[in-house]
Amino acid sequence: MSQEGGCQCGAVRYQITGEAEHSAVCHCADCQASSGAPIVAWLAVKEDRLTLKQGAPATYHGKNGAERQFCPNCGTGLFYRNANILPGIVDIQSATLDDAAAAAPSIQIQCAERLPWVTGLNNLPEFERYPGP
Ligand SMILES: [Zn+2]
Ligand SMILES: [Zn+2]
Repeated sequence: MSQEGGCQCGAVRYQITGEAEHSAVCHCADCQASSGAPIVAWLAVKEDRLTLKQGAPATYHGKNGAERQFCPNCGTGLFYRNANILPGIVDIQSATLDDAAAAAPSIQIQCAERLPWVTGLNNLPEFERYPGP
């Protein structure tokens, strides 16, 4: 199995091979601060299963050993590593996969820091596009 992905502008491209270790949506405050979004979806793979095909992501060294990589041109968040808590693993922001729909998460993690309104999203009115006038 092989999957490819990349950033919004196309400068950084990557490929992963083999099976992922796990897939999760993360609600932690660190992901929120980094992404500017309420939730980040991750696909965890062993480090040797990730190959950078094109471009060079920039690195932000965050708290407690967190290392977050993103495209220096368009800012898309791509990879997370933390040798303290996830040795040998790279977490990939799964929405950057070309086929992001195939990387369905199986668990929710860090729910202690979940924004309280996230659990009510299913109850909000839905529109296929923007609501009409
Ligand atoms: Zn980019
Ligand atoms: Zn997180």
